Amino acid sequence: MSVKNLADNSVSHTKTRRVFIGAGGAAIKMLQMTGLPESKYYAGFPVGGLFLMTDNPDVVNAHTAKVYGRAELGAPPMSVPHIDTRYIDGKKYVLFGPFATYSNKFLKNGSQADLLASATKDNALPMAAVGLDNLDLVKYLVSQVSLSPEQKMAELRKYYPEAKQADWIENQGGQRVQIIKKLPNEPAKLQFGTEIFASQDGTLSALLGASPGASTSPNMMLDLLAKSFPDEVQGKWNAKLLEIIPSYGQDLAKNPELLDEVRTDTSRTLGLVYTSKTQSTPEPQDSADVPEPTKFVPSPDAKEPVVEVGEESQTEPKKVA
Ligand SMILES: Cc1cc2nc3c(=O)[nH]c(=O)nc-3n(C[C@H](O)[C@H](O)[C@H](O)COP(=O)(O)OP(=O)(O)OC[C@H]3O[C@@H](n4cnc5c(N)ncnc54)[C@H](O)[C@@H]3O)c2cc1C
Repeated sequence: MSVKNLADNSVSHTKTRRVFIGAGGAAIKMLQMTGLPESKYYAGFPVGGLFLMTDNPDVVNAHTAKVYGRAELGAPPMSVPHIDTRYIDGKKYVLFGPFATYSNKFLKNGSQADLLASATKDNALPMAAVGLDNLDLVKYLVSQVSLSPEQKMAELRKYYPEAKQADWIENQGGQRVQIIKKLPNEPAKLQFGTEIFASQDGTLSALLGASPGASTSPNMMLDLLAKSFPDEVQGKWNAKLLEIIPSYGQDLAKNPELLDEVRTDTSRTLGLVYTSKTQSTPEPQDSADVPEPTKFVPSPDAKEPVVEVGEESQTEPKKVA
C-alpha cells in the first residue's frame, strides 16, 4: 500500500495483509482506486445537510434534548427533522434540520469534480437509471434546495413556534454519500443505509454509505469484524467480545433479563432515569460528567416524538413515529 502525505508530498510504502478504508464520503473513491472487480458495482450520490443554528442563551438554555419529528413523504431516511442540543468546540448550540442541499462533493471540503470523477463506464448508466427510478427523491431534493430562509423558518416553527429569524443562521453540516449499487443481472439500487464492503479474498474492507451514522458505528464495526474475520469472531475472539459487550450476538427481544441488565448499565453510564425491573440504578458518580437526566424512551415504536439526550443519533423514519 502506498501512502502520500499531502503536506510534504512524500510517499511511503507499507506491506499489509489487510486494509480497511474509512474515509467518509471519499471511501468510494478510494475503493475505486483499488481496482478490485467488485468495486465496479458501486457509485456515489451525494446529498448535503444544512441546519438552522442558534447560540442565543435564552433558547439554548431552555432546550437540552434531541427531538425527532417525521420525515416528509418521499424524503430519504436521513432527512428526519430534529431539533437538538449540540456542543461545538465546547459551546452549546441548538440546531434544527437537516435541510437537503445539493453539491457534487463527496466530502464537505471536497472537490466539485468528485461526482464526475467517480463515474466510470460501469457505473454511469446505473447512476442515470437510479435518478429515473427515484423521481420522488429528485422532486424532494429540488423542493428542499429551493426553500427560502423564510420557508426554512416556517419548518422550524412547526417545532418551536416562538422562533425568531434574527436568532438563527444557516450552517452547512456536511455531505452524505449514498451508495448506488449495481450487482450483475440486478437493477441498480440507491441505498440509504451503511454498506460494509468486504473483498472476496477478505483482504480489503470499506465502510460506505451515509446513514444511520456515527451513533451506530460500534455495531457497524462488529459487523465488519464478523465479515472480515469470521473464524476468529466465532472462535478465540468470541469470549472477549462477550466480555466487552454482554449482549453481543444475543437476541434481546427474547431475553428480558439481559435487556434489563443492558438498559440499567447504559442508563447509569448516560445518567438517564431508568427503573430496572430487577436492580436498583445507582446515581451517577459525578453529575458534571453526565448529561442532565431526561425522559427515557423505552420503545422505538413510540407514537410521540422521541426525546433523547447525548450524542448524535440518526434513526430511520420507520423506527421513529
Ligand atoms: C449533516 C449531517 C448530519 C449528521 N447527523 C448525524 C447524527 O445526528 N447522528 C449520527 O449518528 N450521524 C450523523 N451523521 C453521520 C455521521 O456524521 C457519519 O456517519 C460519520 O461521521 C461517519 O464517520 P466516518 O469516520 O466513517 O467518516 P468521516 O467522519 O467523514 O471521516 C472520514 C475522514 O477521512 C478523511 N479522508 C478522506 N479521504 C482521505 C484521504 N484520501 N486521505 C486521508 N484522509 C482522508 C476525511 O477528511 C475525514 O476526516 C451526519 C452526517 C451529516 C453529513
